[in-house]
Amino acid sequence: MTRRRRIYEGKAKVLYEGPEPGTLIAHFKDDATAFNAQKRAVFEGKGVLNNRISEYIFMRLGEIGVPTHFIKRINMREQLIRQVEIIPLEVVVRNVAAGSLSTRLGLEDGVQLPRSIIEFYYKADALNDPLVSEEHITAFGWATPQEIDEVMQLALRINDFLVGLFLGIGIRLVDFKVEFGRLYDEEGQMRIVLADEISPDCCRLWDIASSEKLDKDRFRKDLGGVLEAYQEVARRLGVLTETRPPKGAGPVLVATNPTGKPN
Ligand code: UDP
Repeated sequence: MTRRRRIYEGKAKVLYEGPEPGTLIAHFKDDATAFNAQKRAVFEGKGVLNNRISEYIFMRLGEIGVPTHFIKRINMREQLIRQVEIIPLEVVVRNVAAGSLSTRLGLEDGVQLPRSIIEFYYKADALNDPLVSEEHITAFGWATPQEIDEVMQLALRINDFLVGLFLGIGIRLVDFKVEFGRLYDEEGQMRIVLADEISPDCCRLWDIASSEKLDKDRFRKDLGGVLEAYQEVARRLGVLTETRPPKGAGPVLVATNPTGKPN
């Protein structure tokens, strides 16, 4: 195989040059990091699960008209995506108090918020991704007021859709983080599209029946069963097909697809 040009390596993904101009290949790694990469581990098979989960969610969002960078899945760990200019913001949507919001405002984890709340964090590892306001974003030129409006509208649509999707499989969508990019067409027209990934790495997902955490908090809080939780999310979404049991985890029951639809 010819060596592919590596464009960028992040904490959970590597981006390679794609087969056509304007495309990239996103390779999902098994690495997990938390607290700005101060805590690290490898969970064998996590990349495969996140690739499948994110593919499924991006495809479903595409079907309801949310523009995304996703083109197609290539293999177990890789997907073909459109190259975009990433807006340097982490857009967090929250439905339920948890994590840094609970800490900052002294809220009890699990309290339903009066309405969905959007927050912006400036993507800067050296600064620990600080919380910023629209004033900072426009003053420093990270995005225009029109772009912020579009990002907020998209984020709320994504949230409404995902809340329902997860509710249908017995999961409470507590909060999640998304990123957006600018995509330019041949005429030079710019569109904002959903980029990066949506997976248990960047969502808080609580089982409705047991309140069990099915997301990266299992790693952050040393709860164990990280891979099993991600597998459970994939299984309920009906996308667990090609994954093999993780090494050393013992037999894993691969239940039939609960939706009854072919995978
Ligand atoms: N999140 C993320 N990447 C980050 C920070 C947060 O994906 O760098 C996600 C996180 O998984 C959660 C949501 O954004 O679903 C809100 O996270 P929060 O601000 O509570 O921060 P945390 O408690 O994770 O530090």
